[in-house]
Parts: sequence; structure tokens; C-alpha cells
Amino acid sequence: MDFAYDARTEELREKLLAFMDEHVYPAERTAEEQRALLASPWDTPPVVEELKAEAKRQGLWNLFLPDAEYGAGLTNLQYAPLAEITGRSPQLAPTALNCAAPDTGNMELLAQFGDEAQKKQWLEPLLTGEIRSAFAMTEPEVASSDATNIETRIRRDGESYVVDGRKWYISGAMNPDCKIFIVMGKTDPDGTDPRRQQSMILVPRDTPGVEVRRAMQVYGYEDHSHGGHAEVIFDGVRVPASHLIGEEGGGFAIAQARLGPGRIHHCMRLIGMAERAVELMCRRAVSRTAFGKTLAQQGVVQNWIADARVQIEQLRLLVLKTAWLMDTVGNRGAHTEIQAIKIATPRAVVDIIDKAVQAHGAGGVSQDFPLAELWAAARTLKLADGPDEVHQRSLARRELKKYL
Ligand SMILES: Cc1cc2nc3c(=O)[nH]c(=O)nc-3n(C[C@H](O)[C@H](O)[C@H](O)COP(=O)(O)OP(=O)(O)OC[C@H]3O[C@@H](n4cnc5c(N)ncnc54)[C@H](O)[C@@H]3O)c2cc1C
Repeated sequence: MDFAYDARTEELREKLLAFMDEHVYPAERTAEEQRALLASPWDTPPVVEELKAEAKRQGLWNLFLPDAEYGAGLTNLQYAPLAEITGRSPQLAPTALNCAAPDTGNMELLAQFGDEAQKKQWLEPLLTGEIRSAFAMTEPEVASSDATNIETRIRRDGESYVVDGRKWYISGAMNPDCKIFIVMGKTDPDGTDPRRQQSMILVPRDTPGVEVRRAMQVYGYEDHSHGGHAEVIFDGVRVPASHLIGEEGGGFAIAQARLGPGRIHHCMRLIGMAERAVELMCRRAVSRTAFGKTLAQQGVVQNWIADARVQIEQLRLLVLKTAWLMDTVGNRGAHTEIQAIKIATPRAVVDIIDKAVQAHGAGGVSQDFPLAELWAAARTLKLADGPDEVHQRSLARRELKKYL
């Protein structure tokens, strides 16, 4: 067993670490300052476009796509340590490299299931970073962790489909650069197989009947850099029948395929978030004195730091093993491990960031450090892309099957 990264990964890691130091971290403050001057807080600050251009110039672009026809052609195992580095600045680095959710999942989906016309119209501008996209599945009225509950209707009418429904927490949709929605709805709500009732359809943002109604908050944050999380209404939205992705009834299977890589990407970035929190905690601990000792000399703070290091090393090994399994036996063969990391990583990282917040005192919950926002982002991943309990239920069932 070899735990070392291969030569290509090492080379890209070095390049990416330098890119983070020289360009991304200094741009964090600039992006906020520029945003305050924009006509709308949802517009993209100019510094983000500069970062994208620089990342492209340095060959740090579309690293997430394993298909060499479209992306860098890296394996999951090669991409994992790079995604981890981008997680250290989750609001800027993934976007700078064109490796941000939900675009990554949408690009994979179009590459895998889109027809040639759909790829030309939507995948190509997404790959060049000209536009952004959203994935619209969750609905406020139904328990959406169970996709069979989805109520949005996609009704065939001659050479068109008509979409009616209400979605929320649609990531990226507040940003006007988000030009296309991939919408999940039911084409056959009365079908006997509950997993064949759904379809996916492409809905351009400017289609009459699409209303991006409001920005949903995350613990009071609006997540501007990410493009926000919107409530979106589809009211009698008519699109050509050619906008359907794959076949009628194929939506459930496409949604399942989309989430595998997305989950591991989130976990990789979460580990980077935890590393940033530990770094901030250590820097703070050696520089503050209370009751005659630095915080770093307090046993309790040492325990937080030690526990965080142990948790991060455990998580990284499990995520890398999962990446290796996805490369060698496919996403289906890695099902248990994908669920295991999706349960274990946000849980541990929320705890690590919470300790870093504590070590910062009031500063930890303030806007002067990135910790409060990192915590909120990590906490949402116990819900997004499937709540913990749903993964636990499915993992336990697979485990129990061995004994039945
Ligand atoms: C920041 C953020 C971004 C998001 N981005 C997107 C996006 O881009 N596109 C999109 O479509 N959605 C998005 N979502 C929505 C997310 O995917 C859903 O919130 C998630 O799937 C859960 O659905 P729900 O909110 O309807 O919860 P529900 O389905 O109502 O579930 C509520 C709770 O019930 C419990 N539960 C459910 N099922 C079980 C079970 N079988 N066993 C035990 N307990 C159970 C869980 O604790 C769960 O958290 C986002 C959410 C957040 C917070």
C-alpha cells in the first residue's frame, strides 16, 4: 500500500498551493470590498474573473472532470488532495478553478446524459466559465430528501413541455450569471414505479414564467460568493421538448448518478475547511494569554488541537480510500464508503470548526474571522445532498443484508 501522492498530483498541489498564497487568500478581502460597491450583491466581483483567468492560464482549470475530453482527466484519487486545498477558501477557490458546486455536478450530468445539442448550448459555456448553472430539485412543500415526493409537474404539450412548481435552496440561482436550471419534476405522477415518475429538463433562466423570488439564508448568511440559494417559481414555463435530458422517467436515476461525485467533492473541501480552522486555532492559541498562560499552554486547548488532528487524518484516509474505490470499482462499488464519508466528514468538521470558534472567543463568531461562515457552511452539509439520517438508514440496511 502506497500512501504517497503520485507525481502529477504533487506537481498540481505545488502549483495550487502557490496560487492560493499569491492570488486567492489576498483576494478574499478584495472580493468583499468590491461586492459592497456592486450594483447588486449577487453580481460577480471583478477579482473573481481575474482569478478565473489566472487559474486558466496556469492550467488549474476544470480539474474535477475525470473525462479528458472535457476536463483535466484526473482520477478521483488525484483530484481529492486538490479539492481539499480549494476548501481552505471555499467562497473563492472552487469558483476560481471552475470546480464549484453545483456547476461541477451539472457539467458531469450534461457530459454523461446530455445530447450533442444540449452539450453545445450549455456544457461548452459552463466548461469555459462563461456562465453558471443551478440544479433545482428540493421543494418547500414536501420532504425532498425522498425524491419520490417531488411535486413539480413537467407536462408534455405538443412539441413542448410545460413546467409548474416551486423550489427552494437552489444554489447559485441568485447570481445573474446562472443562465440555466436543471429542473427535476414528474412527467408521470401516476406511474406504478415511483422511481420512474421523474424526469429532468433544461430551463433557461430567461424563459417566461421563471421567477427567482428571494434569497434563502443559511444561519443568517446569504452566501453571496457562492451565488446564493434561491427560492424559484416555475409558473407555466414552456420549453421545447428537446430540452428533456435523457428519456422521460429517467430523472431519478440521473439524480442518483449526479450525487456520487458531488458528495466526495464536498467531503474533500470540508477537510480543507477543517485544516484552515486548525491553522487559525493554533495561531490564535500561541498569540493570546489568559490567566498567565498562552491559550496554547492550556491542556484543554491542546486536547482540541490534538483531537482535530486525529479526526482530520482519519477523515482524509477514508476520503482517499473512497476516491480510490470510485476509480477502481466505480461509484456503485464505492456506495458504502461514499455514504460513510458523507456522514462522518460534516459531523467531525462542524466539531473542529466549533472548537476553533471557541478558541477565538467573541472573535470566533464575528465577521473578522472566516470561522463563523465556515461553520455555517459545514453544518449545511449534514443536510444538503442527503441528510445524515437518510445515508445512515441506507448504509445500515446494506450492512444488515449480510445477516438476513
Ligand atoms: C445550503 C443548502 C444548499 C442546498 N442546495 C440545493 C440545491 O442546489 N438544489 C436542491 O435541489 N436542493 C438543495 N438543497 C436542499 C437539500 O438537498 C435538502 O434540504 C435535503 O435534501 C433535505 O430535504 P428537506 O430539506 O426537504 O428535508 P426533509 O426531507 O423534510 O427531511 C427533514 C429531516 O428529516 C429527517 N429524515 C428524513 N428522512 C429520514 C429517514 N429516512 N430516516 C430518518 N430521518 C429522516 C432528517 O433528519 C432530515 O434532515 C440545499 C440545502 C441547503 C441547506
